[in-house]
Amino acid sequence: MTGTKRVKLKPGDTIGILGGGQLGRMLAMAAARLGLRCQVFSPDPDSPAFDVVLNATCAEYADVEALELFANDVDVITYEFENVPAAAALVLDARRPVLPNRKILETTQDRLAEKDFVTRLGIGTAAYADVTSVASLREAIVRIGLPAVLKTRRFGYDGKGQAIIREGDDIAKVWTSLETKAAILEAFVPFEREISVIAARSAEGQVECFDVTENEHRDHILKVSRAPAAIPDALAEEARNVAGKIADALDYVGVLAVEMFVLANGTGPKVLVNEIAPRVHNSGHWTLDGASVSQFEQHIRAIAGWPLGKPVRHGEVVTMTNLIGEEINRYQEWLTVPGATIHIYGKGTPRPGRKMGHITEVLPARDK
Ligand code: AMP
Repeated sequence: MTGTKRVKLKPGDTIGILGGGQLGRMLAMAAARLGLRCQVFSPDPDSPAFDVVLNATCAEYADVEALELFANDVDVITYEFENVPAAAALVLDARRPVLPNRKILETTQDRLAEKDFVTRLGIGTAAYADVTSVASLREAIVRIGLPAVLKTRRFGYDGKGQAIIREGDDIAKVWTSLETKAAILEAFVPFEREISVIAARSAEGQVECFDVTENEHRDHILKVSRAPAAIPDALAEEARNVAGKIADALDYVGVLAVEMFVLANGTGPKVLVNEIAPRVHNSGHWTLDGASVSQFEQHIRAIAGWPLGKPVRHGEVVTMTNLIGEEINRYQEWLTVPGATIHIYGKGTPRPGRKMGHITEVLPARDK
């Protein structure tokens, strides 16, 4: 892809983070441990990441002057969410290195571009089709079959902007409900399990993957991750290779997550890529307490131009459980659970579906 600017930070230098959620907060905490400072840019005055940095910019992403001042204050810029507006990334990129490269956002912000990119690499995905109208949706259904999943091309997350279509459904009604003219239809994958690979890549092309993680969703939101995934070694190797191939092809610098479906006894590819997240990812939170180097530290090292760590898992199995909505109110109970480590994001009101914190639990390795 485009040439990646070389960065070599030293302790005391400052990283600019776009986005002030829990991911930005945990990135800033990992940076602090390495003696690096962070400045967070977010339009939300209640951003949880603001609490852990000395300098914050509270402004809209369309505020060019604020972006320029922010860029002047930092040595390198990264982001904690994939929907960074292209115009903002362009303004920043003219002043400071933006890592991962902003061009990557064009691919990962659009489900169609992302699927085309993965397919070009010879990596399997669910069968998919571009859908722009109810007529093209009907054509796509003929080609792909039902059940199928209709998704908006942009701004979908945690199951938002998607609908499952089954035999007998009112196609026109489903199309209208999505309120978009840019969608893709995907074949419904009868997956055996969902996994993800968190991979880090340095500017020199070193790639380090964490153990493959197995993910369980509830109401379309990640509830529990387990590492390592209960899959054969060869499949885990295949999944890591897929992530590495994607990172190489994007000339990626930083941490990325590749979500995949594992097919049961299929004759085709054993893993299919569902989605690429060009950032640290919820399914990698177990690495905070369950590995020698966390995903957050790997990302900071990569964008700082430092060597990546060789992550070693601490226990036999590590689980991560999200505390969603009101579940956070029971934090006192978790404080005394043996082996449990609690992370509270410092968000205000616990709304349904809002990720408020998480728990990691490490099952120590058994003596051989
Ligand atoms: P996504 O927003 O694409 O990550 O999808 C959210 C969740 O919906 C996934 O983690 C799966 O559990 C489910 N899902 C998405 N796409 C498909 C598909 N093509 N077939 C089966 N399940 C899917």
